[in-house]
Parts: sequence; C-alpha cells; structure tokens
Amino acid sequence: MNRRILLIDDDRMQYRLTQAHFKTFQSGRYTLEWAETYEEGMRQLLSGRYDACLLDYQLGEKNGLQLIRDAVAQGCHTPIVFLTAETADRVDIEAMNAGALDYLVKGEITPRMIERSLRYALKLGETLEALRRLATRDELTGLLNRREFERVLNEEEERARRFQHPLGLVMVDIDHFKSVNDTHGHAVGDEVLREVARRVAGEVRSVDRAMRYGGEELALVLVQSDSAAAEDVARRVCAAVRREPVRVSGGRALRVTVSAGFAAFPHDAGSGPQLLNAADKALYAAKAQGRDRAVAFGEVEAGR
Ligand code: GH3
Ligand code: MG
Ligand code: MG
Repeated sequence: MNRRILLIDDDRMQYRLTQAHFKTFQSGRYTLEWAETYEEGMRQLLSGRYDACLLDYQLGEKNGLQLIRDAVAQGCHTPIVFLTAETADRVDIEAMNAGALDYLVKGEITPRMIERSLRYALKLGETLEALRRLATRDELTGLLNRREFERVLNEEEERARRFQHPLGLVMVDIDHFKSVNDTHGHAVGDEVLREVARRVAGEVRSVDRAMRYGGEELALVLVQSDSAAAEDVARRVCAAVRREPVRVSGGRALRVTVSAGFAAFPHDAGSGPQLLNAADKALYAAKAQGRDRAVAFGEVEAGR
C-alpha cells in the first residue's frame, strides 16, 4: 500500500533531507509531498488526502503547535509527527498534548528513526480511528449513535444561532416493526433495520447527519434547512423505504414503510432539545394519521 505523507516545513533544505531519508526506507511505499507555509499546509492537511503528516515547529510567523490546534479544532484526524529543533522538551510535550502522535528532534533524525516514527503514527492513527468509530457509531446500522447525536445537535444548534441559519430535524420510525420481528424473527428484523437505515441515510447530503436514535427510530439533523427543506427530505425518506420491498435472507422480500415527523429551528423550537421534542410530536401525529407519511410540527400545532 502506498502511503501519502505531507511534510509541512518552511525550510527547503529540510524537504530535500527528508526526501533523501525516504529513499532509504526499508519497508512499505511512501510518497512525500511538501507544503511550505502554514496556510498551504493547513489546506493540504484538511483535504484528508494524506495518511500522515510531518510538521515543523517553525513556520514563519506562526508555528506548528498552532497548526495542530487549528487542524484538530476543524476535525482533522490525520496522524501528525512533530518536528522540532528545540531540545527543551516543553514544546514536544505541548505538541503531544495538542494532538501530535509522536515527535522527532530535527538534529537527531536518522532515516531509521523517521521510518519507525511514521510506522508507529500510522498504526496508532488506525487504532484511534477504530476506537472513534466504536465510540460514535451504532454497531448494527453504522449510523451515529445516541451520544454522538446529542453532541452533534448541540454543536449545530450553536452554529445555527451564531450564523442565524435554520436547522431541520427529521425523526423516522419504522411502521409496525414489532410484527416484522414477531413474524420473521429478530434476525430478519435486524436485516430490515439495517436496510432501512441505509435508505434513509442515502437521502441526505454529506453535511447532514444520520443517527440511530433508539430501537427502530432514526433521526436526521439537516444543516441550514428550514421546515420546507426538512419536509422535502422527510417525504423522500418515506418514498425511498416504500419504493421497493426489502430483500432479507431466505429470499423473502418484505414491504416496509416508515413514518416521519419534522420540525425546524428557530421557527418551531428555540433549542436543540425542543426541536427534538417537536419532531417527535410530529412523528406521533404521522402514526396517528395512518403511518407511511411525513408530518410537520407546524401542522400539529395548527390542528390543536
Ligand atoms: P409503530 O408503527 O407504532 O411504530 O409500531 P411498532 O411495532 O414499530 O412500534 P413499537 O415501538 O411498539 O415497536 C418497536 C419494536 O422494535 C419493538 C422492538 O422489539 C423492535 N426493535 C427495537 N430495536 C430493535 C433491534 O435492534 N432489532 C430488532 N430486530 N428489533 C428491534
Ligand atoms: Mg415503530
Ligand atoms: Mg418505535
């Protein structure tokens, strides 16, 4: 496997030296690319195209510590190995605290050392990614889990407030799911749930977030979406599940439908938890009205 490594360093000599080191590596295939400035390095790092990053402390006016902190704040998970000329270990420790996985002292670097450090950072990066997945994803469906959902909803509520954008929320629940379990068994129920989750998640943009809220209840957080945009998604979700029967093991195909309730901040609710509550009320109304449909919270309120 070819590994793409990004070197962020304002010193061309260091690039040449690192290139020379890379040529002597014993194992694996590594490609080295170079970014000369803080801004260029940040842009490249956040592109997500690199397997690991070698980052210099000195970067013109700014420094590598700042870069790590900014990148991590923007959701960067690329493993970073910190390069420093300082022999004082305070910078090294600060870099590790900021999120670097390892550090090398520039004057002491040998090809063996840099190769070992990169291998270690890549391996640790993979392990951390797997742990992050376990902590944030639901195992059955692969969607975000409840805890992550609450974190995301909080974060998006703040963002919506700050930039005065609307925020949409759709709650989805499988219709008569209990009878699927009762008739075909829990394992088939799981297969249905997985396929429904796949179809539901397929209806949102990559900036939106799909989660398993609980049992057979899914939720969608739609950024910069008002009630009309949420309605569009909610209807598409119902249609995507209804469109064709779900194929399950044993060659059977089951007709499945879902109901959806939707609401939007700030029109229908003044906070994340209230938004959740509003969408849930709308979902309840969709069930009461006969299922396999999308209902707006506004509609529920108007009918009272
Ligand atoms: P409604 O249309 O009113 O939603 O009817 P329902 O039968 O879907 O409603 P209810 O909420 O009463 O039942 C949900 C069922 O979902 C009960 C539970 O056994 C099942 N369920 C929850 N989580 C899972 C799961 O992970 N796997 C399977 N197979 N079933 C689950
Ligand atoms: Mg249900
Ligand atoms: Mg339910």
